[in-house]
Amino acid sequence: MEISDIQVDGYERVARCRDEASGLHALIAVHNTTLGPALGGMRMLPYASEDEALFDVLRLSRGMTFKSAVADTGLGGGKCVIIGDPAQDKTEELFDALGRFVDDFGGSYITAEDMNIKIVDLEIVSRRTRWVTGLSRESGSSGNPSPYTALGCVVGLRAALEEAYGSPEMAGRHVVIQGIGAVGGRLAVLLKEAGAKVTICDINEELVRTMQNEHGFEAVDDDVHLDVECDVYSPCARGAGINDETIPKLRCGIVAGCANNQMLEPRHAQVLRERGILYAPDYVINAGGIINVACELLDGGYEESVALHRIEKIYDNLCQVFEISRNEDIPTNEAASRLAERRLEAGRERQEQN
Ligand code: NAD
Repeated sequence: MEISDIQVDGYERVARCRDEASGLHALIAVHNTTLGPALGGMRMLPYASEDEALFDVLRLSRGMTFKSAVADTGLGGGKCVIIGDPAQDKTEELFDALGRFVDDFGGSYITAEDMNIKIVDLEIVSRRTRWVTGLSRESGSSGNPSPYTALGCVVGLRAALEEAYGSPEMAGRHVVIQGIGAVGGRLAVLLKEAGAKVTICDINEELVRTMQNEHGFEAVDDDVHLDVECDVYSPCARGAGINDETIPKLRCGIVAGCANNQMLEPRHAQVLRERGILYAPDYVINAGGIINVACELLDGGYEESVALHRIEKIYDNLCQVFEISRNEDIPTNEAASRLAERRLEAGRERQEQN
């Protein structure tokens, strides 16, 4: 196995691993550990080139630094990408080699599940390194993050309602959810329990029927779901759904959902603002899962009650983002970056004092 470092300005360590025996070709980036070890998932994709994979791992690890800083997890940002086809190239040897690669970081990088990676894959990785989170609940780990992401989204939605309408009360509010998968489906149920009217939309028709039958939700087709007048539009399917084409169609006061990278381009947050629509930045409101996983690293190990308590902080985090946005007259995505930068700066000052 050959591990070689790649020098990248602004990143603490970026390394490539090539292992002929298993066929592993992977990159790990540790962007910043000012606030703690760099936690971030591993994903596997058939990248066309190492450059493409490098671009992804750099972008994603930096994003994790900001997400963890705002979520106040006491962690930094990192990420791992495996260059390969998840349908064909997954083997025990490959994940065994990956475990040795992760271990080479000595705990400055901690891995977790991400795109195309399953708990069974992580279990193989964990034979070679202890720096793995998000394993099964039975093994003492924090388990599936999705219900916690959904819960955090409800908490964040209350903060957004307070900001936009002067009350965090959910009862009587109408929420349209695009994507009722692991997170969106749970979110729909939680919102209904809190008294909201929920309209669902998903391209998986069978899932829509099941959710309608079990919970009595109203449903709309994906091509017309933006036409529904509502208080909150909640993107919970995929990224880039908020763009020049969709923004004029929106008939809501708030955009707040768990999907990653909701804005096609960062400037779209400003376009939303000009339309008077409040945007709860995706990585702030969808942090419930990472907050939950981070609790595995606390002294004494994972305790669900601690995780639930910490997820409540998403409310305050979003309030701070909205306040910065108001006071500094900037869109909320920029306000979230400023909050992250301020927390990183405070972390650096603490380090210097010690
Ligand atoms: P999922 O795959 O379980 O669910 C996604 C759902 O969206 C599916 O039911 C799918 O049919 C539906 N969908 C896809 N395209 C659609 C479209 N055009 N219109 C309507 N529905 C569509 O995924 P998930 O785990 O629920 O994650 C959803 C989003 O939240 C993703 O962007 C993910 O990156 C993000 N996220 C998830 C977590 C988590 O804990 N799972 C944490 C943070 C962010």
